[in-house]
Amino acid sequence: MKHQTINESIQVEVGEDFSEIRESIRAICAKFPGQYWRDLEEREAYPTEFVKTLTESGYLGALIPEEYGGSGMPLRAGAVILEEIHASGCNAGACHAQMYIMGTLLRHGSKQQKSQYLPHIASGALRLQAFGVTEPTTGTDTTKLKTRAIRSGEYYIINGQKVWTSRALHSDLMLLLARTTPLDEVKKKSEGLSVFLIDIRECLGKGLEIKPIKAMVNHNATEVFFSDVKIPASCLIGEEGKGFKYILDGMNAERILVSAEAIGDARWFTNKSVEYANQRTVFDRSIGKNQGIAFPIARAYAETQAADLVLRRAAALFAANLPCGDDANIGKLLASEASWKAAEACLQTHGGFGFAREYDVERKWRETRLFQIAPISTNLVLSYIAEHILELPRSY
Ligand SMILES: Cc1cc2nc3c(=O)[nH]c(=O)nc-3n(C[C@H](O)[C@H](O)[C@H](O)COP(=O)(O)OP(=O)(O)OC[C@H]3O[C@@H](n4cnc5c(N)ncnc54)[C@H](O)[C@@H]3O)c2cc1C
Repeated sequence: MKHQTINESIQVEVGEDFSEIRESIRAICAKFPGQYWRDLEEREAYPTEFVKTLTESGYLGALIPEEYGGSGMPLRAGAVILEEIHASGCNAGACHAQMYIMGTLLRHGSKQQKSQYLPHIASGALRLQAFGVTEPTTGTDTTKLKTRAIRSGEYYIINGQKVWTSRALHSDLMLLLARTTPLDEVKKKSEGLSVFLIDIRECLGKGLEIKPIKAMVNHNATEVFFSDVKIPASCLIGEEGKGFKYILDGMNAERILVSAEAIGDARWFTNKSVEYANQRTVFDRSIGKNQGIAFPIARAYAETQAADLVLRRAAALFAANLPCGDDANIGKLLASEASWKAAEACLQTHGGFGFAREYDVERKWRETRLFQIAPISTNLVLSYIAEHILELPRSY
């Protein structure tokens, strides 16, 4: 059996804490208080000013190598940036994808593609925020996706539909996963899928249609329809048919970064809970004196610390180019559950006031619930642990 105790596993440093980055992010976020996010939600609007400020301060290009105009920082620095944004009460969902989508271009794009796009992504002139994988009829069963890209001379013609494509209306570029060889013509179902970097601006109105989805959280999610969309063959990233592998390659980074947001949320909830539990007096004493209030907060805190450690190790393994899938998945599971427990404790601690919009607790509570569904749902992470770590039979 592959599973290990901590002592038997690879020893890695858990990494820097990047306290200067944390401080600087906190200063930026202080300019975007709860009122800013509440107002956006009411208008279902995109946090343009927030994303602009982060871009101009260089934080969205943190992971892009210096030769392409970024800061060339390790994944852990990206995780710290996202964690601190969420711990400050803000939400990085409007722009986080750039950090992990960019990795696919960086690892598998041609020299020409990288120099054409990365410097402009780093400067903020080009927004790479949309990632089209999920489809309405196939869901988590990604290899069965139905969007087709068919080569025709120097072009590909795309037909199909994506759903839940976040930020597509606020992005210039989209990374798209589509099938280039029909499922019944490939040996393995993971073959025959390809990744394309599409210029949304060029395709809109020429077969590409994007419709917003009204959702529980203001994530700027959309449905994307492709009807004979013609794109240059040069949009293909890497080799045709190898796209699923490229997407999988990026998933550990995605899990680590998104989990850092869950850790940040957990810290925000815990701080809020402690503050309110100390200050709110009922029956002539602070409610925090009741163990029924204090213990759920303490438990969520302990679980957050555990998740954080696993994720720090995952990021360190990633940086050392060592396999990090086990820790990235376990960290994702623990972080999404810790943030939910912290959210539940916070809502309960606030009593009726937890439902009042101005406290931001209910907004963050809705937002943090997403981590158990997207970018990967808890059951699928448990399936990974069962199958790939514990060597139990594959369940699907
Ligand atoms: C706000 C939001 C933003 C999103 N942004 C993006 C984006 O930018 N790009 C993108 O491509 N996608 C995005 N998604 C989609 C997201 O990744 C999927 O919703 C998620 O992966 C789950 O897929 P599904 O919704 O199709 O659920 P389904 O696959 O239909 O699954 C439904 C439920 O059944 C469970 N289930 C399914 N199969 C099994 C099994 N074999 N064993 C046990 N349980 C199983 C799942 O765990 C889940 O709980 C977003 C979703 C949301 C809600």
